[in-house]
Amino acid sequence: MTQPERALGLFGGTFDPIHYGHLRLAETAREALGLERVRFIPAGRPPHRGTPGASGADRLAMARLATADNRAFDVDPAEVESTQASFTILTLERLRLALGPQRPLVLLLGVDAFLGLPGWKRWTELFDFAHIAVANRPGYSLDAAQMPDALAALVKRREAAPEALETAPHGALVQFAMTPLAISATDIRTQHSAGHSLRYLLPPPVLDYISRHQLYI
Ligand code: ATP
Repeated sequence: MTQPERALGLFGGTFDPIHYGHLRLAETAREALGLERVRFIPAGRPPHRGTPGASGADRLAMARLATADNRAFDVDPAEVESTQASFTILTLERLRLALGPQRPLVLLLGVDAFLGLPGWKRWTELFDFAHIAVANRPGYSLDAAQMPDALAALVKRREAAPEALETAPHGALVQFAMTPLAISATDIRTQHSAGHSLRYLLPPPVLDYISRHQLYI
């Protein structure tokens, strides 16, 4: 009998720059949700926001540096290398084709990103390709009373326990708890341009990269 395939975590973001909030979310998801690996997918041209402070190549390089010491993490350069806008649904379609219909795929989101889901291209189709797992983030709450109706209805219909991630390749919504870290890339860029130290907010090789390439000044 063939073994069921283990779940793969997919973690997209602008990563401008990648920081310990991102890394801790991915590590917690791996452990709490029983993921085999987590694939970081830096957005090339994020459609829902202004141009990032660092180029796609620099954000990709920083994601690689930040994840190099974790054997369960890897980085997918496809969105950065593509000339198309970075729509998650297109990435999920591509990965589903490449990985086959059975592999559980779990899209990882912080709660702020999850609350923005109704603005995403073809958002209701995301569950046809992957599960979604949502992590807490300081300053945001997953209170259904404060969500748009369509999103609250989706939570009600899809919410499941983490075990659901292994019993189907896609379709469930789960929540998981991480150590709350009020770190954001916006704050990191602001602190840096004001001349403040960024130590202990992001990994030393990323700090080094920012300083060598004179980013965010
Ligand atoms: P920015 O401040 O530039 O918007 P960010 O710090 O929110 O950046 P993104 O690259 O936009 O980082 O986020 C990628 C993903 O990581 C999103 O799903 C977001 O919710 C999540 N995330 C980022 N920082 C944290 C954090 N400190 N705690 C929990 N989730 C986070």
